[in-house]
Amino acid sequence: MKSFCIIFLLILFVGVFFFYPYKKDLENKEKENHLEKNSQSQEVVNPQEDPFVLALKKEKYYIEEYLHRYLSYSENKEISASMVIQNVNSNLDKEKYLDTEKTDISVDNLMLVNKYYYLTDDFEPDDLVVLSSKYNSGANSKMRKEAAEHFMEMSDAALLDNISIKNASGYRSYQYQVDLYNRYVERDGKEAADTYSARPGYSEHQTGLTSDINIIDDSFEKTAAFRWLQDNSYKYGFILRFPKDKEHITGYKYESWHYRYVGKKVAKQIHEEDLTLEEYYAFYVRNK
Ligand SMILES: [Zn+2]
Repeated sequence: MKSFCIIFLLILFVGVFFFYPYKKDLENKEKENHLEKNSQSQEVVNPQEDPFVLALKKEKYYIEEYLHRYLSYSENKEISASMVIQNVNSNLDKEKYLDTEKTDISVDNLMLVNKYYYLTDDFEPDDLVVLSSKYNSGANSKMRKEAAEHFMEMSDAALLDNISIKNASGYRSYQYQVDLYNRYVERDGKEAADTYSARPGYSEHQTGLTSDINIIDDSFEKTAAFRWLQDNSYKYGFILRFPKDKEHITGYKYESWHYRYVGKKVAKQIHEEDLTLEEYYAFYVRNK
């Protein structure tokens, strides 16, 4: 009996000693296999990318279709991902007045006219209305119907706060812009004229959705009417089109008097997200 016990203990000892490490080894191998499989499946879903590409993709206004443009624009530049997106979405990687395309007028109140999008010489809105002298003080008194109605609504609301808001220049035809632009070029030269006046076809005034308000010069910024518009214009569907800190995007010097009708909903969003129409158009109109 005693020897039987000793043999039994011996077998037990040998078993534990020899087979336990072998089992452990098998377990480890299994674990390794599992990890390998996991990392393989992760690679398929989330390929390893350039950190800059990942940074671009995290940006709110990233447009997948523009990835190659973002990358070629940022090449050899010290520039943040958000600036690359802001600039490329606004077409700054293209040549002004050269790399252009026709404005998509089917988007109606959201049509974009700037140094990259133009209206043809025969474009004239078919719903222009004339603003009465209660709402108008200049020679170009026409605006598109919906824009004019909201302009009057805005002017009436301002009047309740003892603020006078009148259109000083609304719709301007292609031919009008030809004459205006040529006059400026004669006076200041082409390069200077391009910073403050649009070339024919490239003027937003041709849309019939734009109004220069009260005084067409920098002194307008010092008036109570300007401050009122800062707080309220978006409530009536109008945005300050060429803001101070966005000159590089819009391609125009800051114009405190130039407003653009985009509709109430869009104006509110543009106001809240602090966007230009260029940025809004790229991400929310063209991208959809
Ligand atoms: Zn203007």
